[in-house]
Amino acid sequence: MDLFDFEEGREGYYGQYGGAFVPEILTSTIEELKSCFKACKEDPGFWDEFEQLMQQYSGRPTPVTYLPNLSKKLGGAQIYVKREDLNHTGSHKINNVMGQGLLAKRLGKPRVIAETGAGQHGFATATMAAKFGFECKIYMGEVDVLRQRPNVFWMENLGAEVIAVKDGQRTLKDAINECMRDWVANMDTTHYVLGTACGPHPFPEIVSYFQSIIGKEANRQIQELAGRLPDRVYACVGGGSNAMGIFQGFLDDDSVELIGCEAGGSGTGIGHHAARLAYPDASVGVAQGYKTFFLQDDDGNMLDTESVAAGLDYIGISPIFPYLQEQGRVRFAAATNDEVTEALRLVMATEGLIPALESTHAFARAIVEAPEMSKDEIILVNQSGRGDKDIFTVADALDDDHWKCFIRNKAVEYGA
Ligand SMILES: *Cc1c(COP(=O)(O)O)cnc(C)c1O
Repeated sequence: MDLFDFEEGREGYYGQYGGAFVPEILTSTIEELKSCFKACKEDPGFWDEFEQLMQQYSGRPTPVTYLPNLSKKLGGAQIYVKREDLNHTGSHKINNVMGQGLLAKRLGKPRVIAETGAGQHGFATATMAAKFGFECKIYMGEVDVLRQRPNVFWMENLGAEVIAVKDGQRTLKDAINECMRDWVANMDTTHYVLGTACGPHPFPEIVSYFQSIIGKEANRQIQELAGRLPDRVYACVGGGSNAMGIFQGFLDDDSVELIGCEAGGSGTGIGHHAARLAYPDASVGVAQGYKTFFLQDDDGNMLDTESVAAGLDYIGISPIFPYLQEQGRVRFAAATNDEVTEALRLVMATEGLIPALESTHAFARAIVEAPEMSKDEIILVNQSGRGDKDIFTVADALDDDHWKCFIRNKAVEYGA
């Protein structure tokens, strides 16, 4: 299945989803980006340059690890995990960001901008900008700036300017709008490093291209380690970049079932979750430059979302996913905050791993399904990031009174 071999006149579309709904003034910049990306893809040396950069700078290839204790405890399928948490800056975000850094260099643009919600993408972009010598501005909702102090601290100390966006709900979607405004005003000097497989074409394709390094490695590694392909691959889905990354390694292997795990939040019911494809609450619309399923009301106003994992707490989803769901190629499920907290406890206790709360959604679903499978079946979970960043949220969720008190006192000290 070649998702990016577009039909004549349907460039940037995955079935009826995708497209590029951008202000007229951006057309030439988007064209410039598309032709630069096309030249890179066709240049046989480009992927090697990217891969070497990721080896030397981010520790790739990240390993696949077998989890014998968890597998035994659940009594079903054998569970393996792809360790994107071991990347520099602690998640898969760096794959896309370093790739787009190489693009910005080829475009000759000295300045990069990015939106960020939880701060992981902003942190990775500030890191890349420092390494490549780009000027860097990060847009972040004011509410998120207060919630994610440590990431703001690192971004600023890496040399980025962090702008606290005061419009709307002062969260991710407001930061995206502000970032788009900056791009329109400064497109001659500036590349917009979009953080996930969403937004106008060619971003879903570009982000998927760089993240495909996860699936390329994982396909080879699991066969070396387990002797064959997995039966199921689980990945969490916020915008969809880590899931696209690992799934692309198995798309053409029909025996491998692919499962996208969304944020079930505090339960079903509008406003309580961020499940766009697992639950029936989202509908097709056009917003933020592309057409996909959005959590919106009948007038197209975006609904509130809720999740213990900030990185999954988004109204839209990569346009590639509703298409893959319609094709029957990816199945969607949601994990609730409570299931995720329980899964984190279990993974920490049995295997000593600390996955990010986002990644724990994929574990939570695998933990539900593994016992129903036989002992000679194989599961692969994508651990998209490490949980260090979640210490405050996890202490709260695990009801650890000592740490909650310590954290509250620190928050007062910081003025949050
Ligand atoms: C940002 C983030 C996600 C969600 O983004 P995707 O584009 O859906 O991958 C998932 N896991 C971690 C660790 C993240 O930082």
